[in-house]
Amino acid sequence: MDDRKDRSPVIILGAGICGLYAAHKLAERKIPVIVLEKEAVPGGLAAGFERNGNCYDLGVHHLHGFDREILTDIQNLMGERLQPVELKALIRHGKGFHQYPLQFTDMLGSIPPWTLVGALSGILIQQIINQFDKSTASDAEEALVRIYGRPLYNYFFRDFTHAYWGLPASQLSAVFVRSKMPRLSAVDVIKDHLKKLGFRFREESTASALCKETLWYAPSGSREVPEALANAIINDGGKVLMASPVVRIDTADNKIQAVHFSQEGKPCSFPCSYCLSTIPLPDLIRALHPVPDAKVLDAVGHLHYKPITVFGLLVRKTTVLNALYVHFRKRIFHRLAEPKNSGLQVSPEGCTVLIAEMTCEVGDDRWFGGNETRSRLLQDLQAEGLITPEEVLEIHHFNARHAYPIFNLGFEEHFQKVMAQLQQIENLQSVGRQGGFSYPNMHATMRMGADATKLITSYLNSC
Ligand SMILES: Cc1cc2nc3c(=O)[nH]c(=O)nc-3n(C[C@H](O)[C@H](O)[C@H](O)COP(=O)(O)OP(=O)(O)OC[C@H]3O[C@@H](n4cnc5c(N)ncnc54)[C@H](O)[C@@H]3O)c2cc1C
Repeated sequence: MDDRKDRSPVIILGAGICGLYAAHKLAERKIPVIVLEKEAVPGGLAAGFERNGNCYDLGVHHLHGFDREILTDIQNLMGERLQPVELKALIRHGKGFHQYPLQFTDMLGSIPPWTLVGALSGILIQQIINQFDKSTASDAEEALVRIYGRPLYNYFFRDFTHAYWGLPASQLSAVFVRSKMPRLSAVDVIKDHLKKLGFRFREESTASALCKETLWYAPSGSREVPEALANAIINDGGKVLMASPVVRIDTADNKIQAVHFSQEGKPCSFPCSYCLSTIPLPDLIRALHPVPDAKVLDAVGHLHYKPITVFGLLVRKTTVLNALYVHFRKRIFHRLAEPKNSGLQVSPEGCTVLIAEMTCEVGDDRWFGGNETRSRLLQDLQAEGLITPEEVLEIHHFNARHAYPIFNLGFEEHFQKVMAQLQQIENLQSVGRQGGFSYPNMHATMRMGADATKLITSYLNSC
């Protein structure tokens, strides 16, 4: 690569895992790169926060090892700080805690007998219907019913899905089932038997949660990964500017010319040879100047994200969970993690940290970590027999406005309109979880970032 010192830098919007990894790959190749991040710490959704000497993840994040090249790269940056841990996840269901995803025998044992008979016949009847009905499901409810049958859908998915997303499954796209909803492995066992009888299945839900695997974590939590990436970028001559929200992006001749941001209230800008955006699509579109036409603004107004609220608790107990994390379907939190079980260092001795995740809406009591939410959190933890309120030494609250892209009905059309607008700008790509409006895990966003840099490099070489 031609290393011209006078070249305008590549500007990366967002210091989440995707943006940081892309910047790392560019800085390694000595391409001038600047990362602009609105928050005070790097990491985006994978960030973590220190409070009174302990680290709290913004929702516990483990690095998956599926992408060997990415894993090796991160291992090279972090050395022994990145430690392996065997995945052990549970789900609270029926009368106890079961392996997650729910196994066949656990399902048999935890569902009331008549519901179970209904669920098994529902699966069988649905599979017979599916052999004849080859149409595609029109929404998430229909997609789930086609996989699990109506009785099991009603029993297991209907109310939980509604509570989690704030929308009934009938208002979510069928794509959501493939992207976000893990399979009930119990149903896979039943389907394996049906396959032997000659049934044919079209798989519609994600299989990722079925794998046994080794995960990777660090003694100060998930934030060590973005911090290692940010340090590597700076060591290679790049810049990572925190507390620098992007406010305007100038375009002319179908190219981005400059990126404007603010720092300590002062307006600043950089000229730009290429822009890689990982910020939410609505924020990117609304920052473009001149402003895109009304149809694109309308389309991006239909793309929504579900926010998350996270509580980090310091608890006076050596351990609480017999797992890295536990999924709950009937509590205020949908997932509870104990990062000490993944190798988090906690002080003082004899204490542990719990991370409780819950979806919310901006401005509601959960979003603000209000009293009602806190007392329900403590009540639910006690009701599960996990801890008493007296054992809680500290409670810390964090939130993120953009946690889960919402695939509501018809979102595809709006998404495509927005992407078509962005594709007209020749030195711009929008990738990552927020920028790609999709559900990659950390390793997959890093892969997206790495792939984006290949296009950037060939674009710069052609200029
Ligand atoms: C609760 C939860 C748990 C998860 N657990 C795991 C896990 O265990 N393992 C795993 O692999 N994945 C996990 N994921 C997925 C993982 O978080 C994402 O894949 C990954 O962090 C997304 O990275 P990103 O860079 O694409 O997006 P983000 O992390 O959202 O980064 C976007 C960045 O852009 C910044 N930004 C936004 N607007 C502006 C602006 N105007 N100017 C400048 N900057 C801006 C944001 O502050 C943010 O830092 C989890 C996700 C959630 C929500």
